[in-house]
Amino acid sequence: MNAGNVIRVEDEHLLHTYQKIGVVLHRGKGARVWDVNGKEYVDFMGGYGVAIVGHSHPKVIEAIKEQAELLTICHGSLYNDSRAAFLEELMKVAPKGLTKAYLSNSGAEAVEAALKMARKYTGKKRFIAAINSYHGKTMGALSVTYSPKYRTPFGPFPYGTTFVKYGSAEELEKADFSDVAAVILEPVQGEGGIKLPPPDYFKRVEEIVHAKGALLIIDEVQAGLGRTGKMWAHQHWGVEPDIMTIGKGIAGGVPMGVTLARQEIGDTLKVGEHTSTFGGNPLSSAAGRAVLEIIREERLPERAERMGKKLMDDLKELSEETRLIREVRGLGLMIGVELRVRFQNVLLDSVEKGLLMLYSGRNVLRLLPPLIISDKDIKDGLEILSDSIIKEEKKLRIKQ
Ligand SMILES: *Cc1c(COP(=O)(O)O)cnc(C)c1O
Repeated sequence: MNAGNVIRVEDEHLLHTYQKIGVVLHRGKGARVWDVNGKEYVDFMGGYGVAIVGHSHPKVIEAIKEQAELLTICHGSLYNDSRAAFLEELMKVAPKGLTKAYLSNSGAEAVEAALKMARKYTGKKRFIAAINSYHGKTMGALSVTYSPKYRTPFGPFPYGTTFVKYGSAEELEKADFSDVAAVILEPVQGEGGIKLPPPDYFKRVEEIVHAKGALLIIDEVQAGLGRTGKMWAHQHWGVEPDIMTIGKGIAGGVPMGVTLARQEIGDTLKVGEHTSTFGGNPLSSAAGRAVLEIIREERLPERAERMGKKLMDDLKELSEETRLIREVRGLGLMIGVELRVRFQNVLLDSVEKGLLMLYSGRNVLRLLPPLIISDKDIKDGLEILSDSIIKEEKKLRIKQ
C-alpha cells in the first residue's frame, strides 16, 4: 500500500487518540527505520522506548520464528517450556527479593496488577503518586497518572490518589497516609519530561513508606532494562521496591508486561483473582527470553551508560552554540533536551531530514534510542538535530 492510502485508511477507521506524525514506517534495523518509500530515519524515538535491543535483532527474530512454529498460545492454566525459560532468565536479573512474577501484555496491565496486589496485601485502599507521573491509561493505571488532561474526562476514580511533588521526600512525609496501600513512583520520570530525583530521594522514600506501613511500587516500564546504565534505574540509589513493573522493551516489541513482587505480597492474589488470556504466552516469552539474553551478553546497561554519556556530552556542546536549548538532562540513554520554545518545529523539521524523536509536555525533546546505538547513528542523528535547531533559531531571529 502506498503512503497516501495507508494514511487515508488509518485516518478513516482508527480513533484519533494518537498525535500523529505523517511518517508511514515499514521496516527497521538496529537504530534505523525506513518508511514505505524507502526513506531512512535515525531512530532516537526507539519505538517509543521499546527497541531496547534495536529493531529486528537477529536473535529476537530467530526466537519469534522458532516459537511461532511450535506454539503461540498456552493459557496460564497449563504449563509451558518457553514461559519457564523466560522466567529463569528474568530471575537472573530481578531485584533482590522480587521472586514472584505476574505476566501480562502491557505496561498499564503491569501497573494494574501492582495496584491490586498492594490493596489485597495491605487491606488499604488509597495510593500516593507523584505530580507529572505516568503509569498508563487503563482505569486503574490512570487513577495514579497525574495529567488532568488524561484523567478529568474519565473520573471519578474509585478512591482518591494523592499526588505529591516528585523528588521531595519532605512533601511525601507530610502526606496523609491514612488508608494508603502503596506509593507508586517512576525512578526517572519519562512522560513527565525526563525528571531525575535528587540522589538521596529514593532511600528516604523507602524509609518513609515503610514507616507508614505502605508498600513501595517502582514503575520501571520506561527506565528499566538497562536504559539508564543499570539494569533497573532504581538501582542507582540502592533502594529496594516491594513491587516493580516492567514493560515496553521487555519482549522486543511483542506485547508483554511483567509485575514482580516479594513472595508474600504476590502470594496474596489467589486462584482466579487476577488472570489474562494472553499473559505469559509462549511467543512473548520466547521474545522476552531473547531480549534478556541479549541485554546480558551484549552488556547493554554498560553500553547505555557509555553511549548516553557521549550523546549527552555532544548535546551539551550543541547547547553552547544555541540559545534555543535551555537544558540537557538525563541518565544513560534516557535524555531530555528542554528547549526555550515549543518543540514542534524542531521535531517536524528533524523528521523531514530523517530523524525521529519523542517529546514531553510543550518544550522537551525526549530521546529513548536503542541501547545498541552506534557512534555513527549518534553522529548522524545529532547532525540533523543540530541543523533543525539552528534553522529554528534563525527563523526566530528574523521574526524579532
Ligand atoms: C509507557 C509507560 C506505561 C504504560 O505502558 P503501556 O504499555 O503503554 O500501557 C506505564 N508506566 C510508564 C513509566 C511508562 O513509561
